[in-house]
This record gives sequence, structure tokens and C-alpha cells, in this order.
Amino acid sequence: MERKVPLKSSYFSDYLKPSQISFDLKAKDKVAGIEELLDILAKQKLIKNKTLLLTRVIDRERLESTGIGHGVAVPHARVNTGGDLIVAVGKSKKGIDFESIDNKEVHLIILVIWNPSIPGLFNHLFAGLAKFLRRPGFRHRLFEAKNKTELYKVLSEIKLELPQEDKIINRASLLKKLQDIEIKKRKASKEKRKAIQKQADFIREELDQSLLTRFDRLMERYGFAVAEMDGGVCQGCNINIATGMSSAIEGSNDIFVCENCGKFLIASRKKKK
Ligand SMILES: [Zn+2]
Repeated sequence: MERKVPLKSSYFSDYLKPSQISFDLKAKDKVAGIEELLDILAKQKLIKNKTLLLTRVIDRERLESTGIGHGVAVPHARVNTGGDLIVAVGKSKKGIDFESIDNKEVHLIILVIWNPSIPGLFNHLFAGLAKFLRRPGFRHRLFEAKNKTELYKVLSEIKLELPQEDKIINRASLLKKLQDIEIKKRKASKEKRKAIQKQADFIREELDQSLLTRFDRLMERYGFAVAEMDGGVCQGCNINIATGMSSAIEGSNDIFVCENCGKFLIASRKKKK
């Protein structure tokens, strides 16, 4: 059950200390990068079971890359480590392949471990971060920071935000994946269903309850809940989408709601050549 707690703090800096930042990651790949950040947390006694945490973060990463674009990745896991939210940040000058949605190499890894009893906390951080990264001025300062102190200063400005109801930031691919899994589950044999359910639960842990309630209602009613936009048309109802909204959807990983059929509306997943 979701524990409804008022947020004690509202800035990223409430969870991040300069000592939790590596300005020069040595790692050349994703797994090594995550491990390097976990080492920082272990050294400061913020985490105990590094091996377990690494497995959990990698498992999550396999489900869907947490490379959210703009050269940033947010690998994460829900594990109770005693605190509410534990973060570490690493900068890689050379860049690390994270299989990001925009295919760009990652230069900034933000590792987040958060307490399962407060699922909303991660969403607050995630929404705040996504909004922050949307602004070119912030991105520029983030990547042009000359040292750890400067980087810390920029990161400190990130505000934890309430995820918006009308537009859910950066979760489109995750919601689409949940739908694919739920459809697969319907057709699966009894033996296979359990393993598929486990994958679905993994994703569900990360999404807000209000979104999941709507998702389940749509799945039950129509057999699907997420519609892609193709050529400015909602594929769920074949109705044209208003120009302003369709240009916002195009190429983004945000979730919208179709004003006509009420289904979740996302950009076409078709790979563009
Ligand atoms: Zn529609």
C-alpha cells in the first residue's frame, strides 16, 4: 500500500551531498558505471548489500533502459536500505552506452535507491528531473560544470515535483511495455503466466496508482489502454489530434490522454530510419 507522506524536503540537494558525486567516472560500460556509484555509497556506509543492489538495478535496467535522453540516465531500484532515498551521481567525460531512447551516450548517471514504502518519492524526483532537463539553459550548465562543486550547485537546483496528471513525463515507453506484457499474459499458458506477472509487477511498482487505475480500467474495457499517434491521428479512435498536442507528442516519451477516446496517447514507437 502506498504510504501517503508529505514530502519532508523538496530539493534534490536534500538527498545529495558533494561526497556522493564522482566527477570523473572510470567505467566504460553501464554495469561498471553503476557499480562505481554503488561503491561510493558503500564507502560512505549509506548502503550495505552492494551485490544485491547491483543485481536489482541491473534487473531493472534490462527491463527498459533508464537512459532518459539528453545524455542522462537514472538507473534505480526499490530496496529498503533504511533511508528514504539514496542517490549518487557520476559524470563520464567519454560517455557510456546506456541504450538510451535518443541513442545518445550518457555523460551523467544519477543512481537512485528508494524505500519501497514511499513509492511516490522517486516519481517526484523523476518528474522534477525531467522538467529540469527540458530546459536547454540548465542542460548547458549541467554539462559545462567545471568541477564537482559546480556540478553539485547545478544539481541542487532540481526541485522535486508532483507528477502532473494531464501529462506524465518520460514514462511512455514503460507504460507501453506494461501493456505488451499484459497482452502477452492473456495468451500465455498457466505455467508461463507467473513469470510474466512478475515482470508486470516490476513495472507497476514504478508507476503512480492513479495512472494504473486508469490503465486497468481501459485494459478491461477495450483490451488495450495505450494508443500510438501516427500522422497526427490517434490509433485508438482514428480521430485527428489537435495540432498543438500532436506536436508536443511527436518524438517525446511523455504520456498524454486522447481527448476523444480517453486512452493514453504516446508517440509512435516505430523506428525512424
Ligand atoms: Zn483516441
